[in-house]
Amino acid sequence: MSDATAANDQPLIFREGLLDGQVALITGGGTGIGLGIAQLLARLGAHVVVASRKAEHVESAAQSIRAAGGSASSETVDVRDAEQVQAMVARIEQAQGRIDLLVNNAAGNFYAPSESLSPNAWRSVIEIDLFGTFFCSQAVLPAMKRQGRGRIVSISMTLHYRGWPLMAHATAAKAGVDALTRTLAIEWAPYGVRMNAIAPGPIPTEGVRRAFTPPPSASGQVPDMFAVEQAMTSYAKKAIPAGRWGTPGDIANMVAFLASPAGDWITGSIFVVDGGEWLARNPAPQMQR
Ligand code: NAP
Repeated sequence: MSDATAANDQPLIFREGLLDGQVALITGGGTGIGLGIAQLLARLGAHVVVASRKAEHVESAAQSIRAAGGSASSETVDVRDAEQVQAMVARIEQAQGRIDLLVNNAAGNFYAPSESLSPNAWRSVIEIDLFGTFFCSQAVLPAMKRQGRGRIVSISMTLHYRGWPLMAHATAAKAGVDALTRTLAIEWAPYGVRMNAIAPGPIPTEGVRRAFTPPPSASGQVPDMFAVEQAMTSYAKKAIPAGRWGTPGDIANMVAFLASPAGDWITGSIFVVDGGEWLARNPAPQMQR
């Protein structure tokens, strides 16, 4: 399944028009899971704003959503930069008049041994995943306070529940995202803001395929993509009790549920959506170095 067809191909399980009139901002909404979320929210009637650093990602995503009959616009932003984030939110409020839902989905990721992880690599992942989540959440709060209602959903992970070799940077960042989710849920509940997180299991986006793909050898030999696909299939059979990889649509459906009136009394919760993968994960795997 390509990123671009991620959620549009799946049957709609919520009623049409469920999110009519709502404005949703999805960071990292131009690719992978974020794109699947943006597609579903648009199908349910929301105006979606897809935001990330690369114009080619967000513009083509917004264009494809409009071509499918949805309402979408795009923003280029680096979520590590609080001023850029605030300026983006001001533009969205001016254009759309409100912000009902923020999905903190942008993240940076790669496997790397912690003993040689550079300060820049460490800082970059922590800043995208954790600082970005905080900056975006803080920036949309005034609009949500004025509205007396708002939903924030952050995309976390499960790898920090038991530890995951070569992912010290991302696991530390997402543990922080979980902590923020619980703390801000309490602080901001009186404003009508609901703050939750979703911890996806493995979903074969392009980013994950890259992580399963060995780097080209010193002699320039290209990785065997068939072997990569086989390794991924065998991982799903062995390691995911539900027997399959996840899809962006699996995560998007949970976001839609939380954005709907059903989410009104849910805050500070972290929903694992992973086919049972983390419960069955024992012991922590030794990743190839
Ligand atoms: P992905 O396609 O690589 O998505 C990451 C997105 O973040 C990209 O659209 C990227 O767009 C954006 N981004 C990166 N740095 C940014 C920055 N500084 N400012 C703004 N946007 C930035 O990966 P994915 O697999 O869909 O992951 C989406 C989310 O799910 C992430 O939070 C990830 O941690 C989480 N997750 C994924 C899996 C999985 O198996 N796929 C499992 C658990 C959790 P630009 O390059 O255009 O900036």
